[in-house]
Amino acid sequence: MKLVFLGPPGAGKGTQAMGVAEHYGIAHISTGDMLRSEIREGTSLGREAQAYMDKGELVPDSVIVGMVKNRIAQEDCKNGFLLDGFPRTVPQAEALDQMGVRIDLVVSIEVRDEAIVKRMSGRRVCDCCGASYHVEFNPSKDGKTCDKDGTVLTQRKDDQPEVVLDRLSTYHQQTEPIKSYYKGTGKLRLVDGEQPVSEVTDAVFATIDSVQ
Ligand code: ADP
Ligand code: ADP
Repeated sequence: MKLVFLGPPGAGKGTQAMGVAEHYGIAHISTGDMLRSEIREGTSLGREAQAYMDKGELVPDSVIVGMVKNRIAQEDCKNGFLLDGFPRTVPQAEALDQMGVRIDLVVSIEVRDEAIVKRMSGRRVCDCCGASYHVEFNPSKDGKTCDKDGTVLTQRKDDQPEVVLDRLSTYHQQTEPIKSYYKGTGKLRLVDGEQPVSEVTDAVFATIDSVQ
């Protein structure tokens, strides 16, 4: 099964993606996590990406498409994958088609801009496994470390309110048009992301199961 999760920054894509990928035995591919790991490792790709990410802008399509192409060729993607944060532009969606990838379903997690800023200020992430928590809405068990691997949680540099506003505007200009692109293929489903985490999870699973 090949899935795409769409939605604004902070919609809950990463939160939902982990459980979904585990349940269906498919690879979870977060382009944001991949880029952050390139930055930590100090690669040339990471250095190029960082300047864009810090400003809330998108990393150029050419960089991202090559990275995703290599990733989906790996062994753990044989059974399928969940793309979280890719495609983010219409040319990226077209590139996926050109790679011969047939997407089964695109789930767009819908959250209004007003709710996003509040979510981002409380987001805490695990730099080791990419898990995402929220100080109020979805805290880890001890509020400080990751439930899965015990790593101390951190705040992302691009989650400051000014950068979040820039990321939202980038989303509306460059990513939202993808919805029309996939609507035309009949693969797009919308899920209300402004419900408690467990209710969004139920809605996401119901949506995926309805097309299986
Ligand atoms: P969020 O989970 O908040 O939506 P991500 O972790 O997916 O954010 O992405 C963080 C940043 O990484 C983005 O703001 C962008 O700069 C870059 N990025 C991630 N995925 C892509 C992509 N598919 N195309 C271009 N830039 C990307
Ligand atoms: P994305 O991957 O789409 O950028 P995340 O999954 O990282 O989003 O979620 C962004 C923030 O919002 C995190 O702090 C997360 O714990 C929190 N969050 C996720 N889903 C919900 C929800 N349904 N209600 C409230 N907060 C949520």
